[in-house]
Amino acid sequence: MAVKTIITEPNKLLRQISKPVESVGKEEQQLMDDMLDTMYDANGIGLAAIQIGVPKRIIVMDISKDEKKEPKYFVNPVVVNKDPIKNTHEEGCLSVPEQFAEIDRPSKCEVEYLDYKGKKQILMADGLLATCIQHEMDHLEGILFIDYLSKLKKSIIIKKLSKLKSNTAIL
Ligand code: ZN
Repeated sequence: MAVKTIITEPNKLLRQISKPVESVGKEEQQLMDDMLDTMYDANGIGLAAIQIGVPKRIIVMDISKDEKKEPKYFVNPVVVNKDPIKNTHEEGCLSVPEQFAEIDRPSKCEVEYLDYKGKKQILMADGLLATCIQHEMDHLEGILFIDYLSKLKKSIIIKKLSKLKSNTAIL
């Protein structure tokens, strides 16, 4: 288990489309363990593998608010059904630090995926869980939540993040 560096926007790796995993073995489980450590360390509720630079279709999540951890692992997730009714949630992203925006997404969705042991599962998600899984699945397609904003809002955020990065480089 290890905490990895989270890649932040702008970075073209985040725009890459992640590849399906052929089977869930030791290597994938190790990756999921590292992703979970990295996510908890950054106080996030979801993380996609590409956010630590690995272009595989793997997501980890934990939306439990209490002390008891409830990690969820999704390998090769596919949305098989979604509700036409939209829901608005304020979203943030570990790869878009300190930026938040209200985003509309289907309020419910049904997701098929492989779990930590490579077993096929189906999840009916609603509320925060539905928002989070859809946000994380966007990462697998190289999409960030700021892509849903107007061009102007998005460019302001990217400018801020670029400035943040250049400052960090000087230090
Ligand atoms: Zn994100």
